[in-house]
Amino acid sequence: MALDAKKRLRIEELAKQLQALMAEDFDDQPGNVKSFDDLETTSVTVGDEVSRILLESASKKRIPDLPVPTACPHCQRQCQQAEPEPRVLQTRRGEVTWLEDKYYCRHCRRSFFPGKPPVGAGCQ
Ligand SMILES: [Zn+2]
Repeated sequence: MALDAKKRLRIEELAKQLQALMAEDFDDQPGNVKSFDDLETTSVTVGDEVSRILLESASKKRIPDLPVPTACPHCQRQCQQAEPEPRVLQTRRGEVTWLEDKYYCRHCRRSFFPGKPPVGAGCQ
């Protein structure tokens, strides 16, 4: 994925805001001179958190609006929505969480998740 100049400039502005927010972790303090390793650790930590938040936000947008009631995939009877199921996925940048629509079929006595998982596969 390539970033155009306008987006790159905006990301640089946001990075400067993050650097200001994390000033005490980036800037030398009396008696505490930051090493390159310190700066890298802070940069990676902030970058991982930004990545995790971006992924979590993008994942939530992918959850489809499902009709209520929805047909059971086993018996085709209409089922009502149950409490959403919290989902957690471990990513390269940390845990990403979302709530997934859950339905319960009284006839089959089973829950099912008709929506497409927002990320990954085999989450149902
Ligand atoms: Zn059923």
